[in-house]
Formats: sequence, structure tokens, C-alpha cells
Amino acid sequence: MSAVNPSGERVGVVVLGATGSIGTSTLDVLSQHPDRYRVIALSAHRQVERMAALCAQHRPSYAVMVDAVAAQRLRALLREQHVTTEVLSGADSLEQMAALPEARIVVAAIVGAAGLRSSLAAARAGKRILLANKEALVMSGQIFMDEVQRSGAQLLPVDSEHNAIFQCLPTNFGSGLERVGVRRILITASGGPFRTTPVEQLDGVTPEQAIAHPNWVMGKKISVDSATMMNKGLEVIEARWLFNATPDQIQVVLHPQSVIHSMVEYRDGSMLAQLGNPDMRTPIAHALAWPDRIESGVSSLDIFAVARLDFSPPDTQRFPCLRLAYQTVRAGGTSGAIMNAANEVAVQAFLERRLAFTGIARVVEQVMDAVPGGAAVTLDAVLEADNIARASAEQFVAA
Ligand code: NAD
Ligand code: MG
Repeated sequence: MSAVNPSGERVGVVVLGATGSIGTSTLDVLSQHPDRYRVIALSAHRQVERMAALCAQHRPSYAVMVDAVAAQRLRALLREQHVTTEVLSGADSLEQMAALPEARIVVAAIVGAAGLRSSLAAARAGKRILLANKEALVMSGQIFMDEVQRSGAQLLPVDSEHNAIFQCLPTNFGSGLERVGVRRILITASGGPFRTTPVEQLDGVTPEQAIAHPNWVMGKKISVDSATMMNKGLEVIEARWLFNATPDQIQVVLHPQSVIHSMVEYRDGSMLAQLGNPDMRTPIAHALAWPDRIESGVSSLDIFAVARLDFSPPDTQRFPCLRLAYQTVRAGGTSGAIMNAANEVAVQAFLERRLAFTGIARVVEQVMDAVPGGAAVTLDAVLEADNIARASAEQFVAA
């Protein structure tokens, strides 16, 4: 792997999911380095006003609004403001943007299965992929990693835990964790807003309570995932693929301060950790510039204010999603796509108040029991499993 701008030319960046939490943090870092990066394309689902403001500020060549009506409105707005960005629409345009020859870096920050095809397209096109869209890897792990291998793409994790692990591993970790002396990976978890809520009260928690994360400000879906700890489950599967780790090599550790973002333990007893303020601009800046280091806008960690760090094992009674994710990673095949789809449907139903908080884990487990996972991992098989699991989940939500 090599640095992205050896010649000193500005590096072209495509940000998919530009209007989201990760997209916003990415554009904040990019705007601190106008001499180093050039924004080539931005995408969003349908937030027109926000996208118009981003186009006016960053002047990308292209903007994708997946929703066609939103694209029409964006065209009109940009014309009024004399912004010359070309507006495209439709999900296919995302794949086109991910493979643009003038872009070296693709930030995959769409939430959920909606990001699968464009994240894969960036892998196929041999880009440096800044992966936030963990669901893509959970769904298609083997396919994704094969595409990266084949094209020579650089896969850099933005998820704070995986970015921390990447920073604690030697650069040749691809040759195998055992070979580089790693005993295990420790993924830290804050435990979310309900870490200490009496279990019998979890049934009645509202979307507002679930979204109020104690340490991180994030999109709604990942905030609910953090509250159920499905987010940590998805991250276990993400780590399995990114670092070619076995489930037994991955340990989840509750660490409520969110100061240590994850750790790697070596054969000789050394344990390396990456620490910092809980601000996604740190892993984003790291992955953009790697192996260089650039300013991110994140302030120094005040270790005197932190003063102490707590650790405890996770409670899978309280957080059944974590148990389901370990079951999924052991099963392999299309089970990742099935679990992920069931979770996406259940989280949406919870946000729409059609399902209780504790119903999320229940629906995921029911779908995992009802829908058989296939061993063959082709993109078609993944998409089919995703479809069947969604339909099954809707039935269990309604039941
Ligand atoms: P978000 O909800 O804030 O933003 C999601 C983005 O995806 C938006 O730009 C939205 O327009 C776009 N989008 C939504 N549905 C779409 C669709 N159907 N088609 C195309 N685009 C669509 O989410 P976020 O918190 O920024 O999370 C994005 C990804 O990053 C998720 O996979 C999440 O797990 C991961 N991640 C987020 C954080 C964080 O701090 N927010 C941390 C680690 C990983
Ligand atoms: Mg994370």
C-alpha cells in the first residue's frame, strides 16, 4: 500500500452519503485541507437543501440524489445559485461515481444495505475505500474482500474500533494474524444508553431515548444499533473480514468512557490500544492521509479529565443481538445478509413505533431461525437472502 498523493497533486475524493453524520465529518476534514484534496462527487438520498449547500461550498463536478424528484429540485436550486455541479439521479449513478477515474478515494458512508453496490463498485475499481458502511461488509464479506484483492484496492476502516485496530496492527497483517504475532483483538463498546437500565424497563424505551447516545453523535440507525449492541455485533463481523480473524480471536469489552477505541493483544503479552476523543474526524483523517498524518480538527484528549478507564465483559442476556451476531459469524455464507436485513427492518419498525425496543432482537432471531442461510456467496445469493429476510422480518414485526 502507498500514500495517495506522492506527486503532491490534489487527490480526488468521492463522498457517498455526504449529508449524513460521517459524510459531514468527512467534508469538515476535507475542507481543512483544500491544498491536498478535491471533492469530485457527493451523494445523498433526498436531502435537497443540505446538498445544495454542500455543492455551493465544495463545488463538486457531480452530485447524485438517489431520489429522482429530489434530483429535479436540486437542479433548479443549483441553477438559481449559478453552481455548475452536474446532478445525476438513481441508485446506478452511485456505482458510476464510485468508479470515476478522476477519484482516488471513495468514502463509503451510506447507511445500510443501500450502500452495498456502490461500496463494492469502489472495491472493484481499485480505489482507496474509506469504509463506514459496515453493513456492506457484513452482507458480502467474502465477495468484498475478493474484489479488493483482485483490484488492488486499499480498504481503510473508518469505523472507530476498526480504525483503532488497524493503527495497532503491523502493515503486513494481511499475511495472517497468527503470523504477525497477534493473540486477539479487543473491540471496545460503550454499552450505549441502556447499559445500566433495569432489563425489565427495556420494553418501554422510546426511539428518542434509544437515539440519545452518551458519547457519540451519529445517524439514527447506528444509534439504535448501539443501544441494542447490534452495532457491536456488526462490528465483530466487520472485524472478521477486515482482519481475517476467527470469531474466537475477537473479544468485545464494555468500556463506558469510549476513550480506548479498541486494542490488539500480541503473543508476548503486549497490548496496544488507540486512544482519543470520541470524534469520527480522527479515524477519517487517519484513513484519508494514511500513512501520513494530517490535522483533523479534533482537540487533544484530556487524560487528566478522563482520569479512569473502566472495563467489563458484555452481558448477552441484556444484549441478545451480540449473541446473534456471534452465531452469524460462525455460520458464514449468506447468514450475514439475513441478520443484517432483519435488523434493518426491525430498527425501522422501532423508529416508526411499530415495534418495541426488545422486539428488535426478537425479530432478528425469528428471521434467523426461519430463513435458511445458503453457503454459496455470490452477489445474487446475497441480494436474494436480503430480500427474503426483509419480507420475513416484516411478517414477524406485524405478528
Ligand atoms: P446517517 O443516517 O447520518 O447518513 C446516511 C447517509 O446515507 C445520508 O447521506 C443519506 O442521504 C444516505 N442514504 C440513506 N439512505 C439511502 C439510500 N437508500 N440510498 C442512498 N443513500 C442513502 O448515517 P451515519 O451515521 O453517517 O452512518 C453511515 C454509515 O457509517 C453507517 O453504515 C454506519 O454504521 C457507519 N458508521 C457511522 C458512524 C457515526 O459516527 N455516525 C460511526 C461508525 C460507522
Ligand atoms: Mg464503531
